[in-house]
Amino acid sequence: MEKTDIGQVQCLLCSKQVALKPTELFRETRCPHCDALLWFRHRTVQGVMVLDVVPETKAENLDVMRVGELLLRTEANPKAIVNLDGVKFISSSFIAGLIAVHRRLKAAEGRLAICSVHPVVMEGFVGARLDRLFEIFDDEESAVSSFVNG
Ligand SMILES: [Zn+2]
Repeated sequence: MEKTDIGQVQCLLCSKQVALKPTELFRETRCPHCDALLWFRHRTVQGVMVLDVVPETKAENLDVMRVGELLLRTEANPKAIVNLDGVKFISSSFIAGLIAVHRRLKAAEGRLAICSVHPVVMEGFVGARLDRLFEIFDDEESAVSSFVNG
């Protein structure tokens, strides 16, 4: 496995390394190579892609869709966990992106799970009855184990 410096993240969309200052690590920025909005940092946990959404994301529908399309292109049964830990607000456009990706992954016999939802964001999900659509887990551990054991 390649060693990654603390100031380096990989752009999921173009696979290139992006150098970030320590203060930028958990902020939203654009990939200098492909101009994708880097609205999350990604990791793989027990074979499942985990997307750690940056706290003050301005990501919109299309930013979320681009990631969904990438997963559909690269995996037979695309699966991902969107970790919303520390995210206190997401726009309706971002939510629309999550809904679209959820539906498309499901249609491809994949799954999208969401975890660590802030109570305020959760209120919005419940108000829009999205808690019935999305697979929502209290924490990442239970989301990961639902993939591993499911
Ligand atoms: Zn890129």
